Amino acid sequence: MGLIVQKFGGTSVANSDKILAAARKAIRAQQQGHQVVMVVSAMGHHTDELVELARQINERPPAREMDMLLATGEQVSVALMAMAIQSLGHRAVSLTGAQIGIRTDSTHTKARIRNITTERMQSLLDQGNIVIAAGFQGIDENFEITTLGRGGSDTTAVALAAVLRANECEIYTDVDGIYTTDPRIVPEARRVERISYDEMLELSSLGAGVMHNRSIEFAKKFGVAIHVRTSLSDSTGTMIVAAPESADQAVCGAAMTKDEARVTLAGVPDVPGMSHEIFSRIAARNITVDMIVQNVGAEGKANISFTVPRDELAVTLEAVESARDTLGEIDISADESVSKVSVVGLGMARQTGIAHRMFDALASEGVNIQMITTSEIKISVLVQRDEAQRALRAVHQAFHLDKAPDVRPLPPVQPAPRPLDVADVVASLRDLNMEQLVINDIQLDESQGRISIAGVPDQPGVAAKLFEQIGEAGIFVDLIIQSHKGRNGQASISFTVPRDQVAAAVEVTNRLAQTYQFTKVTSSPVVAKLTVSGIGLRSHTDVAIRMFRALSELGVNVEMINTSEVRLNVVVAAEQGQRSLAALEAAFADVRV
Ligand code: ASP
Ligand code: MG
Repeated sequence: MGLIVQKFGGTSVANSDKILAAARKAIRAQQQGHQVVMVVSAMGHHTDELVELARQINERPPAREMDMLLATGEQVSVALMAMAIQSLGHRAVSLTGAQIGIRTDSTHTKARIRNITTERMQSLLDQGNIVIAAGFQGIDENFEITTLGRGGSDTTAVALAAVLRANECEIYTDVDGIYTTDPRIVPEARRVERISYDEMLELSSLGAGVMHNRSIEFAKKFGVAIHVRTSLSDSTGTMIVAAPESADQAVCGAAMTKDEARVTLAGVPDVPGMSHEIFSRIAARNITVDMIVQNVGAEGKANISFTVPRDELAVTLEAVESARDTLGEIDISADESVSKVSVVGLGMARQTGIAHRMFDALASEGVNIQMITTSEIKISVLVQRDEAQRALRAVHQAFHLDKAPDVRPLPPVQPAPRPLDVADVVASLRDLNMEQLVINDIQLDESQGRISIAGVPDQPGVAAKLFEQIGEAGIFVDLIIQSHKGRNGQASISFTVPRDQVAAAVEVTNRLAQTYQFTKVTSSPVVAKLTVSGIGLRSHTDVAIRMFRALSELGVNVEMINTSEVRLNVVVAAEQGQRSLAALEAAFADVRV
């Protein structure tokens, strides 16, 4: 009983048979006593075809007209779906985004949902109709048609599930659930029974492209249980909920972003504000930057490396070039032949040796690690593209991801908590922006110190050896960052450990310094780690910028940084901790819940 949202992707409505099969699934759910809202995508590759058609006519089609064009794809499929249900003897009404009242902002081709009115859908449902909603589209305050970005029907579905307080949002697709990694690359990949919102968010932004990321943000924000399953059979798929599959498991999945590009800026003046200068120009172009690593070079000049999606490299370089007048004599270099390989898991924060296990698997395969960033929930490494598939497979094996976690019986799936109550919020805020950035926690951790190694040789196995010995000494490592080698062929590694283990970590590192000819090992007995947690940290590209701005205004230098979907970590000097905390609280006050 209750309300259920069923979303059918393009492949699940690709022809008339499939449309009828989908219609039957909805009718069956209704006969089981549910009210049913269907969300459908454009048929098959219809959207791609429309995009192609537009390009044939105009190389740079205006975004407004693109939306006008692409929205027609979903209008076709909702109408056909309603006819299918009616032909089977049941009541159905199709609605476009505008007819439902899906209000968005005016960013054509990647609009965000502001709010949704439920009255019309609810009264149609109460009259016994199956409501068929066009995915992917909305309308702005001037009645302009907008679309939510490619793959956006998932987001429509979860958003409708949130405002209608559905029991569940079923996503019918051509795969039977979420896998530990892409089974086309790693055939032994396993379908998981359940995955947490946070893990799914990280995995999908790291290359596991099953769901539109903003749909998971919606689900987490409003506590919607998602069931990803195949439209080809009745088998159950994967539940995306608040809790992970197993409480004992460190890693739940691995992913690869094949087409990354690395950018390195050498000779950046080592004064506060430079990162802000660079990254605000990139963010202004709506590009998501990842793996930001900064290390202090000689004579007050720093090197900054980061990665961007390969197809955004050109625009990124334009943005960086535009900062030259402020940055002075910098040397810009880029590499387009890199991929990012990552592992994700909520349990990794509680276990030791996880990073080492990953580095070790890569060393055994002879894969050289070009950059590393880790956080409480993920570890990412940058490798050469032609080694990436092998790397992914090795890592998948190292964590035994092909085997279901062998633990006590799974706790029952809890009804997901509702972190924000839609109805209350809608009632209190007429102009609610449902997709707005939300920050729910800002923390200062003064319990750790930092070790930094300069002159790390660029060869496979160094990180593996280092963190093996650190692990054997019983030292718990939190953040790890390895910079790109730059022009001199030597990288640097920084990592944080509990304060009372700094001395031991320095000792281990010094022992290895001989073997590997590290040029310098330095340490800080205590540092301040600041963590900003929330929803939408990366889909809102200005989050890191707000942080950089706030800290640079204080004159605080960021020593380490790590960004993820759910957390932004920065390490600064210990004595700057309290001030930085206050500055971050102020910088995010408007989006704090
Ligand atoms: N039809 C749109 C697309 O192909 C939306 C969707 O399928 O989610 O991107
Ligand atoms: Mg899709």
